[in-house]
Amino acid sequence: HADIAMYRAKETGRNNFQFYTSEMNERALERLRIEGDLRLAIERDEFLLYYQPQVDLVSKKIIGVEALIRWQHPELGMVPPARFISLAEETGLIVPIGNWVIREACRQSKVWQDEGFIGLRTAVNLSARQFAQQNLVQSIQDALTATSLLPASLEIELTESLVMADVEQAIGILRDMKTLGVQLSIDDFGTGYSSLSYLKRFPIDVLKIDRSFVNDITTDPDDAAIVTSIISLAHSLRLSVIAEGVETREQLDYLQQHGCDQIQGYFFSRPVTAEVMTQMLRDGTRLQLTDDQPA
Ligand code: C2E
Ligand code: MG
Ligand code: MG
Ligand code: MG
Repeated sequence: HADIAMYRAKETGRNNFQFYTSEMNERALERLRIEGDLRLAIERDEFLLYYQPQVDLVSKKIIGVEALIRWQHPELGMVPPARFISLAEETGLIVPIGNWVIREACRQSKVWQDEGFIGLRTAVNLSARQFAQQNLVQSIQDALTATSLLPASLEIELTESLVMADVEQAIGILRDMKTLGVQLSIDDFGTGYSSLSYLKRFPIDVLKIDRSFVNDITTDPDDAAIVTSIISLAHSLRLSVIAEGVETREQLDYLQQHGCDQIQGYFFSRPVTAEVMTQMLRDGTRLQLTDDQPA
């Protein structure tokens, strides 16, 4: 592709264009390569799930985990979802990948359930393409049946744009999912467009406050106002509310003082392997709050 870049540069006679073109080619090539590799990744068993704990601010215990996909690429190493999810979405590969995620999360969740971590719920992310898939509800049902997982242990994370694209159809799908007995949450809440009157009609259980609001919660009064509004909105709709991206003690204290139910973020733990997660559960790892009495 260096040759192509040189050729184009000569054609235009501009040096800066050469750099631009070769960079674009590099990106296009990386994309092509990732797309090709992505097609093979499932059969090569290169995906894995990391889990990030969610802690309850009253009991201070881990009450849930979010499953987050990782791609162990043979040459590129660990590829984060930001580098392949949108491509998987565009190519439709997200459907088989997403089905693998649901199945694997249910399998692992059942292992934890069998070890006695009964109330623990495992959340999985859903993409728009998966949501549009005809047999989505059936494949969730299949995963639950195949793994014998208690349906209430599974939580499906949706985004505002996903459910707002076609509201009536979305309500139908969400109702079918609720019939299965799974929990539903709205991820990245506050970043998308959603109408409050529709929110009321969606049979959801949890709002997840996007981490962009949590980030400056202690320094930006606007973000603080948004977060406290989302907390009271959730509670008036009888939903529970979880703050994402909690990184500091100050953010945690603020959220606790303002009645947030649960938190997820680097402050408590980064996403970890199933093995490390299991150890945290066995250890009974708890959140320490500032106002805790020393043991
Ligand atoms: P998300 O669903 O909002 O997941 C939370 C993301 O925030 C994760 O990034 C997590 O590692 C990161 N995070 C958690 N706590 C903190 C924190 O305290 N600070 C900061 N800076 N970041 C934090 P990750 O794992 O890279 O995933 C990014 C996004 O990729 C996810 O955002 C989700 O939209 C998507 N994704 C991940 N796994 C899947 C999957 O299995 N299927 C689909 N469709 N999308 C997925
Ligand atoms: Mg999520
Ligand atoms: Mg999120
Ligand atoms: Mg997201």
